[in-house]
Amino acid sequence: MDKKEFVVLGGGPSGLVLAHSLIDAGVPREQIVVLEKEGVAGGLCRSVDVDGAPLDRGGGHFLDVRRQEVLDFVFRFMPRDEWALFDRVSKIRLRGMEIDHPLEANLWQFPVEDQADYLESIAQAGSVRGEPMPESFAAWINWKLGERIAQEYMLPYNRKIWSMDPDALGTYWLYKLPNVSFRETLLSCLEGKPMGALPAHGTFLYPKEFGYGEVWRRMGEALGDSLVRNCALESVDLEKRIVNGRWQAETIVSSIPWTCWIGCADLPAQVLADVNSLKNASINVDYSPQTLDSPSHWTYEPDESISYHRILLRANFAKNARGYWTETNAQRSKPTDGVRFHNEYAYPINTLGKPQTVARILDWAAGNGIVGMGRWGRWEHMNSDVAVAEALQVARDLMAKGAA
Ligand SMILES: Cc1cc2nc3c(=O)[nH]c(=O)nc-3n(C[C@H](O)[C@H](O)[C@H](O)COP(=O)(O)OP(=O)(O)OC[C@H]3O[C@@H](n4cnc5c(N)ncnc54)[C@H](O)[C@@H]3O)c2cc1C
Repeated sequence: MDKKEFVVLGGGPSGLVLAHSLIDAGVPREQIVVLEKEGVAGGLCRSVDVDGAPLDRGGGHFLDVRRQEVLDFVFRFMPRDEWALFDRVSKIRLRGMEIDHPLEANLWQFPVEDQADYLESIAQAGSVRGEPMPESFAAWINWKLGERIAQEYMLPYNRKIWSMDPDALGTYWLYKLPNVSFRETLLSCLEGKPMGALPAHGTFLYPKEFGYGEVWRRMGEALGDSLVRNCALESVDLEKRIVNGRWQAETIVSSIPWTCWIGCADLPAQVLADVNSLKNASINVDYSPQTLDSPSHWTYEPDESISYHRILLRANFAKNARGYWTETNAQRSKPTDGVRFHNEYAYPINTLGKPQTVARILDWAAGNGIVGMGRWGRWEHMNSDVAVAEALQVARDLMAKGAA
C-alpha cells in the first residue's frame, strides 16, 4: 500500500492549486498524489489546437482580473507578460440586433419604440412595485425584469442553457447576475449610455500565444510524479481510506463530481439519495471556421429555434485565429460531422434545495476524512479564479488542522 498524507481526486484547477499550495506549505511532494481521469490536467479549462489556433474545449474561458492573490498564484506558472488584457465586449441577439450585455443597462441601444416597450414592462415588474421576492427562478425573472425581457430573453436563454424548467431552479445564486435598478435603466435610456454595476469579466485576461488551458497544463507538469493521469476513481474503502486499492490517504480531497462516487464507495442511503438528486448540464462545444463580422468576444443567443446559446468569436481574442465556436446544451445538440467536444460535467444546476443537499454530503464527507472542494465538490458555479481562491484557503485550513 502506498501511504499518502493527501490523495486529491481531480486534476482540474481546484486539485492542481490545492496540491501546489500544500507543497508550498511544506508537505513533502511524495506525500501528495492527484488522480486525474484525463490524459491532460486542467479539467474544464483545458484547450486544444483546432484549425491552427487554440480552442477552449470546455467552453469560453477568461481570467477575471480582480483577485490579487489568485493572479499572483497563476502568474507563477504563466507570467503576466504572457497574457493580453481585454475590455469585455459581449452582446445579446434580440429583435434582429446585437445589444451589449447586460440588457437592462443597454436598452438605450434599441430604437425608441422598442425602448418604450421594455421600459413599460419593467415599470410593471413586481420588484419595482415593491412586491416580495419570489423563490423560484422563473418567477424571479418576471419579478425583477418584467414580462417582456423575461419572455424574449431570460426565460428562453435559461431554458436553452439548462435544458430544464426554470421553475425548478432556486434564487439563492442570483447575486451572480448583474444588478441594475429600474432607475439606472431609465437613466441609461435618457442619457444614451450604460448604467449600473458591471458584470463579471468587465476586463479579462487571455493568453497571448495559447489557449486558456496552457497555464493549467503547466501547473500539472510542475507536479511531476504527484500527478497521475488517465486514472479515474474506481474504488474507495471508506474505513481504511484506501483509493483504487493502491493509495492509503490520511485525507482524501474530492474535486470530482459526487455522482462519480456512486458505485466506487459504500455510501450510506441518505448520502446516496442526496448525491443522486444533484443535477448537472452537459455542454457540446462545436467549431466553425467562418469568421463573423462582429467586435464581440462572445454573444448570447436566446432564440430557441437555434440550438446553441453562446458563440465565442475566438478571432477577437486568440492570436492568429479565425472562426468561432458555439456552446450548446448536449440535450439540444444536433449530430455533427464537424469538430465537437463534449463536456459531460459542465454546469452544476442550482435546483431548489441544493444548498441543503450539498451541506449534508459535505458533513458526511468531513466525518470520513474527506474534504469536498471546487466546482463539483461544492456543486457551485464557481469560476476558475474562485476555484483557485478556494483551493488556497482549503490548503491553509488543512495545514492549520494538521498543526493543531
Ligand atoms: C462553458 C463554461 C464557461 C466557463 N467560463 C469561465 C470563465 O470565463 N472564467 C473562469 O474563470 N471560469 C469559467 N468557467 C468555470 C471553470 O471551468 C471552473 O471554475 C473550473 O474548471 C473549476 O475547476 P475544478 O477543478 O473545480 O473543476 P473541473 O475543471 O471540472 O475539474 C475537475 C477534474 O476532475 C476530473 N475528474 C472527473 N471525474 C473524475 C474521476 N472519476 N476520477 C478522476 N478524475 C476525475 C476531471 O477530468 C477534471 O480534470 C466556465 C465553465 C464552463 C462550463
